Amino acid sequence: MSHTGDDDIAANRLRLLQQDFLEPGRPSNGVRVSRSTTPSAPLRLDMVDHIQASVSEIEEHTRAEAPDAGARPAAADRVYEWAYQRTRHLDPQRRLVLETVVYRQSLEHAIAMGDHSVVRRHSCPACGTWGLFWRPGLRKAVCVNHYCTDDQGRPRSWPLAHLAHRHVVAQAARKNLNVNAT
Ligand SMILES: [Zn+2]
Repeated sequence: MSHTGDDDIAANRLRLLQQDFLEPGRPSNGVRVSRSTTPSAPLRLDMVDHIQASVSEIEEHTRAEAPDAGARPAAADRVYEWAYQRTRHLDPQRRLVLETVVYRQSLEHAIAMGDHSVVRRHSCPACGTWGLFWRPGLRKAVCVNHYCTDDQGRPRSWPLAHLAHRHVVAQAARKNLNVNAT
């Protein structure tokens, strides 16, 4: 089984979201999450929707690939582990699709927690510059390079799904190189 650790990161972030936003009285293992505002009730409702939508997306994807997958775990943060286990039989290309969804959700969870720095760890797909920044209004990562613009002269911007796909493909290529080298 190709295990990248991205599923563990996604699961940890989902657990933090649940602890911080759905059970605000509970300490979240001493991990501090910086936020500009104190979460209000409507924000927590958004968070319920966010968590449910994330779990449903993984569940639907898994069932489409593995109709006999059985019941998913009751705990939301265990859905990634379940999905990876139930799709072990898939060929690598189709596993990459699942890994891309999981990695994208991991980015989405971080952004939902207020940690926008996760997009900075990706270089711009067009110009290669490091330092993408998150524009909440666009829900896209925008390039810092002033010369990196689209046909209309606007700064280039990228949906998380695009960054996730590049990340997962690059990771798989590195793994294959390592395998070939040994
Ligand atoms: Zn760029």
